[in-house]
Amino acid sequence: MERTFLAIKPDGVQRGLVGEIVRRFETKGFTLVGMKFMKVSKELAESHYDVHKERPFFSSLVNFITSGPIIAMVWEGEGVVAAARKMIGATNPLTAEPGTIRGDFGVNIGRNLIHGSDAIETAQREISLWFSDEELVTWESQMKPWLQ
Ligand code: ADP
Ligand code: MG
Repeated sequence: MERTFLAIKPDGVQRGLVGEIVRRFETKGFTLVGMKFMKVSKELAESHYDVHKERPFFSSLVNFITSGPIIAMVWEGEGVVAAARKMIGATNPLTAEPGTIRGDFGVNIGRNLIHGSDAIETAQREISLWFSDEELVTWESQMKPWLQ
């Protein structure tokens, strides 16, 4: 089953949006398989955002992600990688559609509340970067027959 990596960034935690954001993925019908509340090390932040290391905003992005606790999550479900990106909305909250997380709550491209993997291969890389196998919980599908 397809999985994606999502992280509620420090602004989402500080603004008290954890419940609201988690609720959206729960009520959509995706399955939570991993979750932790943590401070991110500089090494992990730099590795996570490795593709952006030549961009001018890289150091401020790493500083921001390491500035306060975040919620790291793995969600599972059919088409979850693309669907989560759609639910998150465009990178810039000012152009993100209303109804998306960034469109509804975000104010600034550097403070856009949540990260979501952008492709299946990226998701696999990010999940193994952030979580060990023991931290991921596979539920039995019999527990949610309405999703079979
Ligand atoms: P996304 O998070 O939508 O996948 P990107 O992968 O392009 O977006 O960028 C990673 C993160 O870097 C963004 O979520 C945003 O927080 C930050 N970022 C991207 N572009 C800019 C920018 N022009 N100025 C400041 N921060 C940016
Ligand atoms: Mg990205």
